[in-house]
Amino acid sequence: MRKIPVAEPVLAGNEKKYVMDCLDATWISGSGKYVEAFEERFAEFCRVPHAIAVFNGTAALHVALLAMGVQPGDEVIVPALTYVACANTVRYCGATPVFADVDPSTWTLDPSTVESRMTLRTKAIMAVHLYGHPADMDALKVMAARHGLALVEDAAEAHGARYKGQLVGGLGEIAAFSFYGNKIITTGEGGMVTTMDAEAARQARLLKGQGMDPNRRYWFPIIGYNYRMTNIQAAIGLAQLERVDWFIERRLEVAHAYARWLEGADVVLPPQAQWAQNVYWLYSVCLPADVDRSLVVEELATKGIETRPFFHPLHLLPPYADGAKGDPIPVAEDLAARGLNLPSSASLTDDDVRYVSEALHASIDLARQKKVRPRGG
Ligand SMILES: *Cc1c(COP(=O)(O)O)cnc(C)c1O
Repeated sequence: MRKIPVAEPVLAGNEKKYVMDCLDATWISGSGKYVEAFEERFAEFCRVPHAIAVFNGTAALHVALLAMGVQPGDEVIVPALTYVACANTVRYCGATPVFADVDPSTWTLDPSTVESRMTLRTKAIMAVHLYGHPADMDALKVMAARHGLALVEDAAEAHGARYKGQLVGGLGEIAAFSFYGNKIITTGEGGMVTTMDAEAARQARLLKGQGMDPNRRYWFPIIGYNYRMTNIQAAIGLAQLERVDWFIERRLEVAHAYARWLEGADVVLPPQAQWAQNVYWLYSVCLPADVDRSLVVEELATKGIETRPFFHPLHLLPPYADGAKGDPIPVAEDLAARGLNLPSSASLTDDDVRYVSEALHASIDLARQKKVRPRGG
């Protein structure tokens, strides 16, 4: 039987060569030519002056928030539909995440719900480019400027995505990327902070390197972290980055293939705002409300097709139950209940996509039949 995972890495470029080079040179820790080269090339890729490599995307987000001055007592506005790291990193700063709803047409932070979440303690807005689709940055920028807030981008799922023609990673004051094994490009575990601002970059570097003064060895003016990326991670990252255009192109081809094979299916296809270029990190659909998603997931699994339900809305998770301040967050809750991430790897063929799409059609029909059949019948 075919086995089709949701996402798997492709390591078909110079990854092995560069890793062997690290081993031969015994540069395996948090410094070396690959870390520098990967940072430089990634900055070029995002068209930003500064990129700071760290050991995972969560560390990147934590450093980004700290560099924006988020501290105990502050609040940060976070979309309710995203990965848990968005809220956890706010807590790592001693601050409180306050959840806002997402827009039904982009699945990202809905600017019209943000202002109602603001208090005198609000320090920052975290815009998440969910599943590869950019958030509506201009609207959020206006709001952040009006209220004197920092605008942080979580671009962990959106390498190469564009907002009004501009690449993510340079749209807010600071951004975080992830290179986890299932992301658009990978270093195994890894992350990057990008920013246009020299002072934020200096702060991020200080924070990731235990707080050591760059001009005075073993002098620590602040409490920092050891969030360094290893040279081996960076070696893999550099090789991945050499082929990043191919990775993004493949994601778009897979998305086009899905759009074709799913034509006429009773599902909502992923967002694609006029002002956005989605990079379809995960090809994500919403099932009809009357279809039991767990039946569809089970049925696809019997055909070797791995899927993933959308993230649970963060305000429904035990540590964050008070983050919605008791208000319903209807769009995020609805999408989370109906959404399904389909296999999305760069290695998928048109035939794979057709196989998954046909199985999805069939499993939706089957789930409907099972539902109307009386129990015990
Ligand atoms: C993957 C991801 C992160 C965290 O990245 P890690 O490298 O797994 O720590 C943060 N935010 C979002 C939206 C993600 O998808």
